[in-house]
Amino acid sequence: MPHDAPMLFEPRDVAPAQPSETDSARSHTYVEVAIEQAVDRALDYVVPQALVQEIAQGQRVKVPLGRGNKLVFGFVTKVKSDTSFDPKKVKPIEQIVDSRELVTGPLMEMALWLSRYYFSPLGIVLDAMVPSGVKKRTGLSRVRYVRPILGHEKLTELLAQIKAPRRRAVVARLLELEPGESIELTKLAQESNASPTVIKKLEEVGVLEIELRKELLLHVGNENANLKTSTDTGASTATVLTTALTPTLTPEQAAAMDRLLPLVEGGFSVTLVRGVTGSGKTELYLRAISRVLERGKGAIVMVPEIALTPQTMKRFTQRFGDEVAVMHSGLSAASRHRMWGQIASGARRIVVGARSAIFAPVRDLGIIVVDEEHESSYKQDSAPRYHGRDVAIKRAQVQGIPIILGSATPSLEMWHRTASDTRGIYHLIELNQRVANRPMPEVELIDLKAANKVRGGMHLFSPRLEQCLKHTVDRGEQAILLLNRRGYSNFIFCGSCNEPVHCRYCDTTMTYHRELSVPVEARTTAAMADAGSRAGQMQCHYCMTTQPLPATCPKCGKKLSLFGLGTQRVEEEMTRKFPGVVFARVDSDVMKGAMDYETLLSRFASGELQVLMGTQMLAKGLDFPNVTLVGIINGDTALALPDFRAAERTFQLLTQVSGRAGRADKPGRVVLQTFLPDDPTIRSSMTHDYLAFAKGELEHRKQVGLPPFSRQARIVVRDTIPEKLTMRIETLAADLRSQIESTALPVRMTRPAPCAIGRIAGYWRQQVVLTSEKLGAIQEVLTRARRMSKLISNDRVAVDVDPVSLL
Ligand code: ADP
Ligand code: ZN
Repeated sequence: MPHDAPMLFEPRDVAPAQPSETDSARSHTYVEVAIEQAVDRALDYVVPQALVQEIAQGQRVKVPLGRGNKLVFGFVTKVKSDTSFDPKKVKPIEQIVDSRELVTGPLMEMALWLSRYYFSPLGIVLDAMVPSGVKKRTGLSRVRYVRPILGHEKLTELLAQIKAPRRRAVVARLLELEPGESIELTKLAQESNASPTVIKKLEEVGVLEIELRKELLLHVGNENANLKTSTDTGASTATVLTTALTPTLTPEQAAAMDRLLPLVEGGFSVTLVRGVTGSGKTELYLRAISRVLERGKGAIVMVPEIALTPQTMKRFTQRFGDEVAVMHSGLSAASRHRMWGQIASGARRIVVGARSAIFAPVRDLGIIVVDEEHESSYKQDSAPRYHGRDVAIKRAQVQGIPIILGSATPSLEMWHRTASDTRGIYHLIELNQRVANRPMPEVELIDLKAANKVRGGMHLFSPRLEQCLKHTVDRGEQAILLLNRRGYSNFIFCGSCNEPVHCRYCDTTMTYHRELSVPVEARTTAAMADAGSRAGQMQCHYCMTTQPLPATCPKCGKKLSLFGLGTQRVEEEMTRKFPGVVFARVDSDVMKGAMDYETLLSRFASGELQVLMGTQMLAKGLDFPNVTLVGIINGDTALALPDFRAAERTFQLLTQVSGRAGRADKPGRVVLQTFLPDDPTIRSSMTHDYLAFAKGELEHRKQVGLPPFSRQARIVVRDTIPEKLTMRIETLAADLRSQIESTALPVRMTRPAPCAIGRIAGYWRQQVVLTSEKLGAIQEVLTRARRMSKLISNDRVAVDVDPVSLL
């Protein structure tokens, strides 16, 4: 059934006529079903006669599996008239669980592609594509429907007999229905100006039948209501641009738009917009989308989860009103379900959301935008291990539409691909100026070693940062302080054993977390000083285990010292050095839900909070005009990670967070503290010089043959028993090696070796990494192994294609 627009949620209420005996006696209908578990191929089932008319691709079904015929859920990926298996052995499907076609058209094509590309069982891919609220049909409302029992003739006779005007009106309205059609009770009551009681009376005398149906409310309500503020216009007709809110483009933006529009109106193309922080990239997205909307099409906008702030959402809802469906983590399963339904029905045409928004069933999709395309959070770290940005590019290709990727610090993969494209698919648009000729913030480098030599004791704030922060708050301006590490101290050290305290289950050190009895709302400096107790616990940031902080070293009983910094320690020093300054700490320990973060940001926006201090949550997307100072407590935290992307991540983070300063009339300043003042990455982030950074880093990667000059896949095998693990991964490596040898494909494979973090949550971990200039060669090797069942991805074996982290 090739539909143009995915036909999800089409009502299938009317029971179709059964096929005649003679038809059904001979032919059978079969389906391929992808089981929602790690069964790595679709299985054939036969469709019982009673369900033949109803069965369709994309439906969720229940089928018997294995010897015990255990009933499991799956998705119909294909409906067909024969099977290559022995028809006598093909089992029948048990039930159609959901008659809606949840995944069809281009999305089914995407699912098949994802399963192949990322080596993930199709059922797991489909499961990830459909939100659980949709699968479980959460939040369906009961809607009453009226269906006449009497036929047309009988109703006409009846109408002639009835005297009561309201009853007459009801019957007259029923006569207008098509045979088999029903009408919503409230609608019938309204249109015939009769009360529901009148209709119920008619049910009692056998004229009609009232039935309850569970249904998703598809009309657009006020889901975005909580995002609205008094400045909102509440515009509901979205194709009309609210001109009052549309700024005049800067000359640079206008030139960019001139280049972008023809691409937006064409077929598949990928446009990388590299624009410095504050250059007004969002305005380009908004205009591109509005052009697409004018042509009656829809859009998907992806932003990193932590950038899904009310501020970001408002920029879209302000412009496009109720056309926008925001899929954020704070939505209840029921709202998510409703939003999904509204998207699928075409009631909302723009989806703004994190990674999984790329699977939204937008009708007649016309454009995709991926903001902050370099973000590693677009990569999912559980199966299916897909990269949201790459899936977005694939979807644009499948649907023949343009995609825009935006960033101030593009991933080196996209940067290189755009530069070396010879097919005319990739385009680069650059914005080098901030809006209104605002200057980029000036970055001052502070050598922490030198600063700490001058005065004794432990200081996280250099004298210069202290001075800048003081001046900033004195002037009534605001500051953002970054330390990308939560907790108090990440190194609990025994000087006598010369060893830090390790996690019992992981190959990592424990982090000490102080416990504070002061709730977030009341976290003023004074209250914090009172609560400065040393009570707390140790936490492992990999398996999340917690243990009380031992009074002395568990091994030798000597005193333990706390080294290494975390946000709690900055908080402590801040309290001590800046009594009276109202600030809040922002990290995932404090921000338990989306609401906490929203409340906090609105307090910052109102000026009640003078300083925000926290982890990378603060680096993304925040646009506060009064922020003139960004302080980076330690710019080196990520540089030492055993990952070849450490420098790239560091540059991105420093540039992003620096970009929060001076976004309006007042110029911004950045104080960047570091122990490595000569490091080239640190130095290039001082001048916000992406081009210089990219050039240097790409040269280095080219020399050593790392991505983007090669492609990678890694396979991590884990087990609780080290010997078993070694055996497994050796076998797997041998199988893969024999595939490489027999195909003679140019693929290199590392020897099995422990991962950088050799044990997590009690599982020992080893990996092999496959590298080749062409991903296709790696795919071929893995596909062969997969077909021979030598490579099965499950909870012990993780295949990660295009990995973004090698820890
Ligand atoms: P980026 O995403 O490139 O960092 P934004 O899109 O957030 O930049 O824009 C930075 C700020 O400038 C925002 O407050 C935005 O509303 C504003 N802005 C963007 N374009 C214009 C314009 N043409 N005129 C005035 N203000 C603009
Ligand atoms: Zn642990």
